[in-house]
Amino acid sequence: MTTSESVKWAELFRKEFLERLTQQPVVYLPMGLCEPHGHIAVLGLDTLKAEYLCEEAARRWGGIVAPAQGYQIHEVGFHAPWLAEVAGNVNTCMTSMPTAPMLYFFLYQLRAFYNAGFKQAIIISGHSGGNQQDFRLAAEAFRQESDMMVHVFSDPELTDGKYTGDHAGKYEISQLLYLRPDCIDLNRIDEWQLDEPETRFAQGEDAPEATAEYGKAIMEDCLAGIQKVLQGNNSAPGVAAPRTLMPYATVEKVWQRVKEQSSQWLTGDLKPDQPPTPDNSIWKPFEKYRV
Ligand SMILES: [Zn+2]
Repeated sequence: MTTSESVKWAELFRKEFLERLTQQPVVYLPMGLCEPHGHIAVLGLDTLKAEYLCEEAARRWGGIVAPAQGYQIHEVGFHAPWLAEVAGNVNTCMTSMPTAPMLYFFLYQLRAFYNAGFKQAIIISGHSGGNQQDFRLAAEAFRQESDMMVHVFSDPELTDGKYTGDHAGKYEISQLLYLRPDCIDLNRIDEWQLDEPETRFAQGEDAPEATAEYGKAIMEDCLAGIQKVLQGNNSAPGVAAPRTLMPYATVEKVWQRVKEQSSQWLTGDLKPDQPPTPDNSIWKPFEKYRV
C-alpha cells in the first residue's frame, strides 16, 4: 500500500485528504487507553480495537481516521472500586485521565474536525462502561453550536445489543486474538498467581474460551453498526473550501455548559448500589470526582 492509499489523516497528503473529504466528509476518532487486560493481553487492547474499526470503516465506506487517542477516562468514580477489586494496589500501567481534561480536550478535537471541513464525526471508544455517556453529553453540547453531526459509541454499542462486551474476557480477548494474535499470549493465563498480592490484573474468567473466529464475528457486527450510522446520516458531499474557523469563545461556551452538567457525569461517581472503594485502596481518593 502506498501512503496515498492510506485512510489515516496523519498519512495523507493534502490533495488526497481533500479528495477523501469531498467524497465522504466523515472523520473517525479511535479512542482507547492502556489499562490492565490480564497477563495474556497487551495493555492497549482498547486502543487497538478502536483503531481497527475506524480504519476498516474508512477503507470500506470512505472518510478519514483522525490520530488515535490513547488516553481515556479511568480511575475516577466507578472505576476506583473496580480497580481495587480487579487489580488491587499494583502498578496498573495506565494512561488514565480524569473526566474534565478529557472532555475539555474532546471539545477542541471536535473544533479541529469542524475546521478541517468534516460534516460528521464518528467516535469509537474501545473503553466502555460509562465514559462514552459523558462524551455523548459533551458532543450534544457541541452540536448546539455547529452543524457537524457527532456520534459516540463504545464497540459493543454498535451491535444492537448482540454483545454487551466484557473486560479482558472471551469477548475482548477474542477481538484482539483476531486483530493482533501477536498481542495475545494465552500461555500466560496463570501468571496472575505470581503477583503479590495475587491479582488477576482484570483478566476475565472466561478468557480461555476466546477464539479468533469469535473475534472476527464481533468485529464484523461492530462494522455493520458503523455502516448503519453512515446510511442513516447521509450527508451531502464535502467541500474542500475552507470553513470559517470556529472561535475559541464558542468552545469555551460549550465547555461551560458541559461543566454545569458535571453532576450528571457518570464517571464522576459510583454506580447505583456499587460498594465504595475500600479505605486501604490506592484508588480511594479518586472515587468522588467533581469540578
Ligand atoms: Zn478493554
